[in-house]
Amino acid sequence: MSHIKKQKVIIIGAGFGGISLAALLSKKGFEVHIYEKNEQVGGRARIFSEQGYTFDMGPSWYMMPDVFEDFFSVLGENIQDYFTLTRLSPSYRVFLKSENCHYDFFSDRKKNGELFESIEPGSAQKLFDYLDESARQYQIAKKEFMYKNYDSIFDFFNKRVMQEGRKLEIFNTMKKIIGRTFKSELLQKVMQFQMVLLGTAPKDAPGIYRLMNHVDFDLGVWYPNKGIYELPRAIASIAEKNGTTIHLNSPIKKIIVKDKKVLGVTLESGEDVFADIVVSNADMHYTEQTLLGEELSDRKESYWAKKKMAPSALIMYLGTGKQFDSLSHHNLLFSEDWDLNFKQIFDTDMFPEDPSIYVCAPSKTDKTVAPEGKENLFVLVPIASGLTYDTETLEKWADNVISILEKNMGMTGLRESIEYKKIYCVKDFERDYHSYKGSALGLAHTLTQSALWRPNNVSKKVKGLYFVGANTNPGIGMPICVISAETVYKRILGITDPEPLKEI
Ligand SMILES: Cc1cc2nc3c(=O)[nH]c(=O)nc-3n(C[C@H](O)[C@H](O)[C@H](O)COP(=O)(O)OP(=O)(O)OC[C@H]3O[C@@H](n4cnc5c(N)ncnc54)[C@H](O)[C@@H]3O)c2cc1C
Repeated sequence: MSHIKKQKVIIIGAGFGGISLAALLSKKGFEVHIYEKNEQVGGRARIFSEQGYTFDMGPSWYMMPDVFEDFFSVLGENIQDYFTLTRLSPSYRVFLKSENCHYDFFSDRKKNGELFESIEPGSAQKLFDYLDESARQYQIAKKEFMYKNYDSIFDFFNKRVMQEGRKLEIFNTMKKIIGRTFKSELLQKVMQFQMVLLGTAPKDAPGIYRLMNHVDFDLGVWYPNKGIYELPRAIASIAEKNGTTIHLNSPIKKIIVKDKKVLGVTLESGEDVFADIVVSNADMHYTEQTLLGEELSDRKESYWAKKKMAPSALIMYLGTGKQFDSLSHHNLLFSEDWDLNFKQIFDTDMFPEDPSIYVCAPSKTDKTVAPEGKENLFVLVPIASGLTYDTETLEKWADNVISILEKNMGMTGLRESIEYKKIYCVKDFERDYHSYKGSALGLAHTLTQSALWRPNNVSKKVKGLYFVGANTNPGIGMPICVISAETVYKRILGITDPEPLKEI
């Protein structure tokens, strides 16, 4: 394998996909350099601290712990050596505007069964049967779909898909599947909201994503003590231990190509750096249109114009001088008119009149993220990507959200208690991550933007150029981007086994 040892790899971007791939390739003996434009690793999962508060900037739901454990183990590492995980109980709290009350959901079948039964008689058994099937499909997906590279239609419509046929319900939607299983509007919403984590409306999400219900209700929602950032911090430190060099504050300006073969990259400083392989973890549209140029790209601008992007978000990072007893760690307030809300998020360019709102209060679990007796709040409203606004409008939206939190989530006195506030929105996603239309997550997971139909992780036109991260397969989310690193690793090494890696 000495020829492998000599290969030099440049990775553009230190998001989950970039650092995970670096950890794998450097463990294998490749010479790996990551160039990251920002001052920290982690991509959308960065942190910042102000006035004694430490905020995770992006992800807050640590799900699919099995994927991270397996990944660390492939690298010869034990995840417990890096951070301690707490299983959240409840997993999350759902507030209802109409009833002015809340319900707690757990990763505990007995507790959820009792709650479902109290909301809709007869629904507990339906939940158990539904989850058994979701669990089975999760195992099939892990073994045969998620860690696989796709090159032809037969990679997707394989023997297993044919055998499982209708059960996988690839051409059915989550909205229909949930709608025929549960009658209660609340239960339907609770079983569908996970699609938002995939950046998709339930009416557009293929039935295969029912596996997300197993992820939520069986595998649970976890929290790494000291915050989500412990995860990218750990993966980056393993990459460095394995020999990767991480260059921070080092934006790339161009990918250098000659005779349809990648030669390296040009840094914003003007310096050229050469390599055998270049992998971009930066936004796919930006990589192709700006770093590569349309002529060498597999997709044209017209392709992107037709694509459905996952929502952007209005985010508020709040430090409050008091704590709010009404809150749990994760809190959701669902819009009353669910269909209209999704329409406004995906199909229009207006701020939703009756927004769904997510509030994370990590200070409920972790005393290190806020000064004693105070609350660390991450407030997120999904909004349409590409939405335009001025500073005054943004402040007005944020202020309106604060009023809703006070009224509908029991957070009386929130406005007066705020001692730190930072607003983050569409333009910030564009500036910080070069994200197309300022989407928070990237390409939505509709059927025609999943698997074979999602942009591939290898360039058709430029030899030696690969892509890793949320816009390629398998898609959006921290664990999913870690898996995307495994699939690129397999691609580079010529491994065709569809199962998760077992060793390097
Ligand atoms: C608000 C929010 C909440 C989320 N919540 C969750 C959650 O709860 N759970 C979950 O699992 N997932 C969640 N996600 C999704 C998850 O964070 C992402 O899917 C994942 O982090 C994306 O990783 P990535 O590998 O695609 O890289 P990215 O995070 O997109 O990172 C790409 C990196 O490339 C860098 N880059 C771009 N251009 C250049 C250049 N020219 N030169 C050098 N570097 C460059 C960027 O600076 C960035 O660091 C959330 C995301 C957001 C934004």
